Amino acid sequence: MSSTMTIRMYNVGFGDSFLLLLPGKKTILVDAGFHSQGKGAFTGNDLAKQIAADAEAHSGEPRIDVVIATHRHQDHVFAFNSAEWKKLDIGEVWMPWVEDRDNPDATKLWKKQQGFAMRLAEAAPSFGLSPEDNAELDFLLWNAGIDITNLAADAELAAWSNQGALETLHDGFRHRDRLDPRFLPESNVFPETFESSVITGMKVHVLGPPRDPDEIEELDPANDDETYKALMLRAAGVLAQAVAAPFSEQWRVPETDAGPQLAAKDLKRLKGLAHSADALLAAKAVDDMINSTSLVLVLEIGDARLLLPGDAEWGTWKRILANNKARSLLRGATFFKVGHHGSHNATSKTLVEKVLPREIPAMVSTQEGSGNYRNNIPLEDLLKALGEHDISYARSDKGDEVLPPGFVAEADAKWIDIEIAC
Ligand SMILES: [Zn+2]
Repeated sequence: MSSTMTIRMYNVGFGDSFLLLLPGKKTILVDAGFHSQGKGAFTGNDLAKQIAADAEAHSGEPRIDVVIATHRHQDHVFAFNSAEWKKLDIGEVWMPWVEDRDNPDATKLWKKQQGFAMRLAEAAPSFGLSPEDNAELDFLLWNAGIDITNLAADAELAAWSNQGALETLHDGFRHRDRLDPRFLPESNVFPETFESSVITGMKVHVLGPPRDPDEIEELDPANDDETYKALMLRAAGVLAQAVAAPFSEQWRVPETDAGPQLAAKDLKRLKGLAHSADALLAAKAVDDMINSTSLVLVLEIGDARLLLPGDAEWGTWKRILANNKARSLLRGATFFKVGHHGSHNATSKTLVEKVLPREIPAMVSTQEGSGNYRNNIPLEDLLKALGEHDISYARSDKGDEVLPPGFVAEADAKWIDIEIAC
């Protein structure tokens, strides 16, 4: 018997939130976030309320079978701060393995990342940033977990944080069928495949994040190696120690744990680079690392194969594309959620031009606008490549325009639906 499912993309501005309405009254939520500086049709508790209402309209009860948080960035989790979630029953919560608080590798990774961000924050005054760049740097560091300023201007959001959102995901729903979240992948098998009892018959293929912390930290090799080396060294505090006031004791790198070492001539050259663009790029590198913790999933539901890559970046894609089994999963995709709002570093050319099948629908949750964080987003070349490969796509920020066949927008363009055979 042929059946269909609906994928609903909410217009959350520069963020992601997708609700999957499946046969058998089942529902899956993939992310619920929006960006404090780039909101769409939802800005606070209203996103959680809308999702809960839509899920209940489909299933007949206040319940979501699976809640997936691809990674801890604001634009993917911020709405989980809402108290509305306390009214919902949940089957299971899925998060990347780095969110497992009992995993020593995860603790180590976050400690290191927080150390980078903290030292960068301490060194920031020495970079002579303009007020705009300073605000941008603060945001990037805040998003990477360092609370420097209170970024939310309105009262409702002032108390919200990425950390608060994570608390909901760990333990904030009225009821969970499975008490502990699933931290994915759960093994070193790649790609990992499992089935969950809350949605029988669905196969879940986990393609990311890498289980190896070193692979998560591998940054985009398309960038100049030298530049990245400089950025990471700066972020690690090596340069900062040379140019800025001494750090407070707790953030000083112990001699035995000094990280990458610089030759004297490199140090001299790097000292000359202390200007605002470098500081912002360094903050961006720290922030990008979190994208690399993103879940990348293929959900196999009947005949449907949904490719949901979160904001995964180059390191994760490189690994996926090099693996036959993973590649063949991508070849069978019947739907593609475009990664990282259509940015340059989240969708490989090979993926679009050589791997994904033609004539599948795609969704891009994005928002054009000012602000360094969304320069060139969505990337024109990427949208063009999708078109050239007959991949029809809808943008969350263009729901009020004429959409390609199959995509249907809500009257006020607050979301866009597509039906997928399954
Ligand atoms: Zn994002």
